[in-house]
Amino acid sequence: MPVYPRCGVRPVRGEGVYLFGEHGEKYLDFASGIAVNCLGHGHPKLVEAIAKQAATLMHVSNLYGSPQGEQFAQRLVDNSFADTVFFTNSGAEAVECAIKTARRHHFANGNPQRHTLITFNNAFHGRTIGTISATNQPKMRDGFEPLLPGFRYAPFNDLAAALALVDDTTAGFLVETIQGEGGVTAGTDEFLQGLRKACDEHGLLLILDEVQCGYGRTGKMWAYEHAGITPDIMSVAKGIGGGFPLGACLATEEAANGMIAGTHGSTYGGNPLAMAAGEAVLDVITKDGFLDHVASMGERLRSALEQLIPNHDTVFDSVRGRGLMTGIKLKDDAVAREFVAHARDNHGLLTVAAGENVVRILPPLVIEESHVAEFVERLSDAARTYVPVIAE
Ligand code: PMP
Repeated sequence: MPVYPRCGVRPVRGEGVYLFGEHGEKYLDFASGIAVNCLGHGHPKLVEAIAKQAATLMHVSNLYGSPQGEQFAQRLVDNSFADTVFFTNSGAEAVECAIKTARRHHFANGNPQRHTLITFNNAFHGRTIGTISATNQPKMRDGFEPLLPGFRYAPFNDLAAALALVDDTTAGFLVETIQGEGGVTAGTDEFLQGLRKACDEHGLLLILDEVQCGYGRTGKMWAYEHAGITPDIMSVAKGIGGGFPLGACLATEEAANGMIAGTHGSTYGGNPLAMAAGEAVLDVITKDGFLDHVASMGERLRSALEQLIPNHDTVFDSVRGRGLMTGIKLKDDAVAREFVAHARDNHGLLTVAAGENVVRILPPLVIEESHVAEFVERLSDAARTYVPVIAE
């Protein structure tokens, strides 16, 4: 199925912060597989853990329980708001699990009519029927109808509009703490705190989608920490496996009270190999000083980008995001998708286009100062040589 547009890069090997193409081309990877390769490519701890586990036990059915899954789940609980964890293979499945957990919570509490989630314009939650139903974007939904009922949409960061949608059928809110695909837009503290308060007052559930913004990317373990709140349910993926396909739905015991044995499942979710990968990543990112390193690299990158803008003020507009989840918004005459292709093909720089004409910068969390300097230099060259394609 040719659902992915072709581009000029075909990486065949990765090493640290670099990717190499089939003809030896070298790319500075500030995309990280879209926020996945948080330890870069070929991190020895991750490679070793996967190899060791593959030789010991690659897969076993959840029917027999999973000591590896229990151990990793406990470590996630110890490092988050959550009491309980369900493992998945992707972000979309983690969001699906979050939606099911919320519906089932109200069902178990005798309120089955509370099945509708309020979600937000410009969101991205995945590509399954459930998760595209949770988005309000025609480009993801057209031709896939009928979609799942049970979602209503409000403008992002508009608390009053979201609260105005709450009625007797509302189960809660589903929101990215920082919108990634939508354009690296952080939920404001007032917005996120307001949603939390409304949930507390009306018995609703706050579901945060931290598939892209969680797991150390912002310089804190979870993006919600910046707003001083906690969710009831949270979807996680991408960085959690460092490149191994892994996701998780985390929840408080109360929010997950309807998810009892037999209600949900996954053949591969919590597979020993995925758990070994997850633990190896967690070992690294919970090491003393690691998150401070991410925060300081994020600040360094941000200030370097801010200094760059005046020199290229026909291309760059402003910097957004937190930590190493950074975006640079382009001026109206420039086009993010075109600029990303130009930087890739002519300057060996990998970034990702996002909504609102933003170039997303999502480097591995292990970058050093020298990588930031190299990135900014190449980005500056790319801006200097970029010529927008003027539509006829
Ligand atoms: N939620 C968010 C916030 C995401 O950014 C993504 C992926 N970009 C997803 C969910 C879906 O994850 P996956 O592609 O692993 O299904």
